[in-house]
Amino acid sequence: MTLTTKEKIEQLRDVVRHHDRKYYVENNPEITDYEYDQLVKELQQLEKTHPEFITSDSPTRRVGGEPLTQFPTVEHKIPMLSIDNTYSDKELNEFDHRIKRMAGIDAHKDIEYVVELKIDGIAVTLWYEKGLFVRGATRGDGFKGDDVTANLRTVRQIPLKLDPVDKRQKVPQVLEVRGEIYLSNKEFQRLNEEREEEGEPQFANPRNAAAGSLKLLDPRITAKRNLRIFTYAIGYYEDLELKTHIQCLELLRVFGFPVNPHTRLCKNIEAVIHYCNEWDKRCRELDYMVDGMVIKINSLALHDQLGATSKAPRWVISYKYQPEQAVTKIEEIAVQVGKTGTITPVANLTPVLLSGTTVSRATLHNFDEMRRKDIRVGDLVIVQKAGEIIPQVVSVLKEKRDGTERIFEEPSTCPECKSTVVKDGVYLRCYNSLCMSQAKRRIQYFASRDAMDIEGLGPALIEQLVDKGLVKDYADIYSLRHDDLVNLERMGEKSSSNLIRAIEESKHRDLDRLICALGIGNVGSHTAEVLANHFDTLDKLAHAGQEDLEEIYEIGPVVARSIVEFFRNNYTQETIKKLKAAGVNTTKKATPKLVKNPNVSGKSFVITGTLQKYSRKEAETLIRNLGGRILSGVSKKTDYLVAGEEPGSKLDKARELSVHILDEETFEKMIQ
Ligand SMILES: [Zn+2]
Repeated sequence: MTLTTKEKIEQLRDVVRHHDRKYYVENNPEITDYEYDQLVKELQQLEKTHPEFITSDSPTRRVGGEPLTQFPTVEHKIPMLSIDNTYSDKELNEFDHRIKRMAGIDAHKDIEYVVELKIDGIAVTLWYEKGLFVRGATRGDGFKGDDVTANLRTVRQIPLKLDPVDKRQKVPQVLEVRGEIYLSNKEFQRLNEEREEEGEPQFANPRNAAAGSLKLLDPRITAKRNLRIFTYAIGYYEDLELKTHIQCLELLRVFGFPVNPHTRLCKNIEAVIHYCNEWDKRCRELDYMVDGMVIKINSLALHDQLGATSKAPRWVISYKYQPEQAVTKIEEIAVQVGKTGTITPVANLTPVLLSGTTVSRATLHNFDEMRRKDIRVGDLVIVQKAGEIIPQVVSVLKEKRDGTERIFEEPSTCPECKSTVVKDGVYLRCYNSLCMSQAKRRIQYFASRDAMDIEGLGPALIEQLVDKGLVKDYADIYSLRHDDLVNLERMGEKSSSNLIRAIEESKHRDLDRLICALGIGNVGSHTAEVLANHFDTLDKLAHAGQEDLEEIYEIGPVVARSIVEFFRNNYTQETIKKLKAAGVNTTKKATPKLVKNPNVSGKSFVITGTLQKYSRKEAETLIRNLGGRILSGVSKKTDYLVAGEEPGSKLDKARELSVHILDEETFEKMIQ
């Protein structure tokens, strides 16, 4: 049976959708980024040659069209009201009493609640018709919001098409889903670093960054922000039977929406209070900001009975956590030079305990920001952590000033190399490519784990190497000899030999690591991987023009420009020559080639039970390398179930759906 092009495109879309869900929603990828990119490329290619089959729900259509000039307004079918806040256990108990009184429930009886983390992000609503995502909007004033559909489409966790994992679940005619758009702390830091390099002002916290990203008029930029979402409610819906809130959340999961895993059903208010207190500390361990808990009555009938005030529903309340802050003194303000030459002020603080760690430094972002907050040496300030490792100064206690505080003047020369600094956006920048301070940062980055991973080449050693004139840039580390190292502080025979060996080993790193290590502005480890896959050699990348780069999926104009500028620089060209002369690998190592096996290629497999000859991972890799696909569950789309010993319920399901079942022996024969 051969497929028509249309069927082939549809099948490929299903596969990409499946992997999107595995990667973005379930955090459990089944294939490598490279394999995924190949699938997307294949789909793009097919759609390019057959534009008549392009549909808006295709995974390749997440970004499309031109930038907007403004956002249209959307009226919410059901208002998105705010939630009343509580700050103590006592207030939670009062909430429980109030509800029982209003609903006529005996005070001794228990009410079931669902407790969710309150994600500090931006509330949005997603509208689906006949299973397709048609419109998304911000909360706005609760009654009307901005239509940000194009930007929400770029959020990979949001399904463009509802695809229930349980095929018995019918897709409703209309479904409105509500959730919170947020940015992970890691992504927030990455974004701020990128903005610093671009000379743009940094975002104060992940929430502001998420809001700013969602309100961009150009969805191509939003797409690069890696926004995420947790969905937490169903608003309007048609033809669904819903009785409890927990059932709504389960349904969202089935449809492929991310639901926060720390949601809990509590049998009474005591259990709610206990869970809220537990999370007061725990929420700081997460990679996203949580500013409290949301407590909802589980019974939807009770929601209807209680209704809402003009501002907020009566069946829900939030329990807010106070962000941990501390008061301390700014002892000194220092100036720091980044790896691309940005010069930023940093405050040295009287050490103070904050969120469980001792804090002695705070970022002041840039000199404009420092002046705006009127931060002076000697000031008492409030510091807080907001998704960053380094805390920030929230405000100055000006009333505590005694006149000895000193205004810190912005430097006119680089503190390291004394060249004149240039104002670039809100940042000051040192443009001297021989500046030692920048060199130190660049070498540190070059040797870091995500880059060339040179064990033993840490900041303190780099400091010595540069100060003693042994290295001027990262290419020089390859000419270091044992004798150069052995006399340095805290270095001995053994650590010198180890370091020399580690440096030698790093010459064989794959191309993506090298590209990352070069320290090109806006190019981190992921972008480096994309570039390495595309160009195969460093030379090809170095000769790529702006347009060649922009053609690559995932590379935008800003990144493309910084790559071109980087390689055009004479100093870069010299450095690369030195790296090559030292024998550093500059080509991509071959990935195991796909050898398509006609029995396996294009077929979908599910594995269950224990196999004798292979681990689960090995069997999966094997099938993929032969061109097959791995699915997580048995469905009508499954071609084969490979059943080892002690197979689970998947075997029953496969029998039920008449899926071909292979024992290990038959599977062996098939792949020979
Ligand atoms: Zn300098």
